[in-house]
Amino acid sequence: MPYVSGKKLIMNAWENKYAIGAFSAHNAESIQAILGAAEEEKSPVMLMIGQKYIQYMGIEELRGMIDIFMKDITVPVCIHLDHSRKYEQVVKAIQLNFQSVMFDGSGLPFEENIAITKKLVEVANALDIGAEGEIGKIGGTEDDISVEDEDAMITTCDEAVSFAEKTGVDYLAVSIGTAHGVYKKTPKLAFQRLSDISKAVNRPIVLHGGSGVPDDQVKKAITLGVAKVNVDTELRQAFTKGVLEVLTKNPEEYQLAASLGNGRKVMKEKVIEKIRIFGSNNKADLFSTK
Ligand SMILES: [Zn+2]
Repeated sequence: MPYVSGKKLIMNAWENKYAIGAFSAHNAESIQAILGAAEEEKSPVMLMIGQKYIQYMGIEELRGMIDIFMKDITVPVCIHLDHSRKYEQVVKAIQLNFQSVMFDGSGLPFEENIAITKKLVEVANALDIGAEGEIGKIGGTEDDISVEDEDAMITTCDEAVSFAEKTGVDYLAVSIGTAHGVYKKTPKLAFQRLSDISKAVNRPIVLHGGSGVPDDQVKKAITLGVAKVNVDTELRQAFTKGVLEVLTKNPEEYQLAASLGNGRKVMKEKVIEKIRIFGSNNKADLFSTK
């Protein structure tokens, strides 16, 4: 099965009470790790391309690389642009056949965030591409965005409803107590708020900062309407751990296939673990083969 619209992927998860993992892709090996895990688990999956790795590798290069590794993949895959703060970049991603895009105007004044997000949602929807918007600030640092912890305020129900209705986003990222990066202490999600927002906006919710949130909290969030969970930090940790395992054992192991290959293996195991927590394993069958 080739690429599937993010809208279709997330709606299916939402209706069937599981979540799609949006896993960060950084290089060839990480793309293989994600696709390999999804294929083995018969899971629909999102490959997420974020700002840091666009700066590092280039958006066209990363996008092109995914096509190469899709050759033998049979599960539904969606390529997602994460945290774009530029209108032009989102349009570029649409041009490059991404199946899902996120405009992050959470740092902009409310009305401005709405205006730009709405414009992009119209373009994306006309082409059957899923569109994600963000309201409320998510703590921590991600890519080139940094938000002070104190500023990371929980999204209110009213702003979520107003934002969702005015922009028409397909899925909505809200701030409910998660943060990007490594947590200093175990996070506690604001479940009541999540539940209220989810019911009020009546569309799928996206959980950012999914790394390091205890499994039971993630599972509960999914029952309350989260249908997409972004995972980045934990994957990079797994990859790095795998590379280090090899180099610690033998600092003179100069075969990149050995070190990077083990990074890929350990990261793939982490993706499989997440897929099972999100309940997206064996869900590929829910999508028709056409
Ligand atoms: Zn994020």
